Amino acid sequence: MWLKAVPLKVNIFIWRLFLNRLSTKDNLLRRGVIDATQLPCATLCGESEDHIHLFFRCDVYGQLWPLVMKWLGFEEALIGDTISHAHQFRDLGGFSKNSRCAFITIWTSVLFIIWKDRNKRIFHNKFDTLETLTEKVNIGGSSRTTFCLILITLFGGIIHFLVSKPLCNCLFYAFLAICD
Ligand SMILES: [Zn+2]
Repeated sequence: MWLKAVPLKVNIFIWRLFLNRLSTKDNLLRRGVIDATQLPCATLCGESEDHIHLFFRCDVYGQLWPLVMKWLGFEEALIGDTISHAHQFRDLGGFSKNSRCAFITIWTSVLFIIWKDRNKRIFHNKFDTLETLTEKVNIGGSSRTTFCLILITLFGGIIHFLVSKPLCNCLFYAFLAICD
């Protein structure tokens, strides 16, 4: 999955996430960089940090998903880990390729915002509230995506008919058909 609507660093981050190559604490422990006492999640939720926990199951960061879903007008609970989570989120976009691509772009923004906040906790002993993080997804995370979503919602069918190429240009790698 490679998304032109998001910055290069976010694409690289997502790649590393799917390959489990992020410097999460479980990976750092395996590499001998930290010891077991440093394994607890930075949110102090009481669990150990690995990528599944941090992004999808943490009592703190996990709450971001329902907030973002609410912003998008959905009530469904997302379940599972990275790939199934991505598929569920993408499918919220319905059948339009552009809309599905916009949703997956938002999905990547949420993950990147969680990662940045996690690093802020570890390296600067600071963090944002869930409300602030949600606002970052809405505004700073991907204003182009939000604009894209509004256009699709309002004029989806017409745009799809008139525009010769997709609003969001997505290139897909074979092993992950996220935006198919
Ligand atoms: Zn946690």
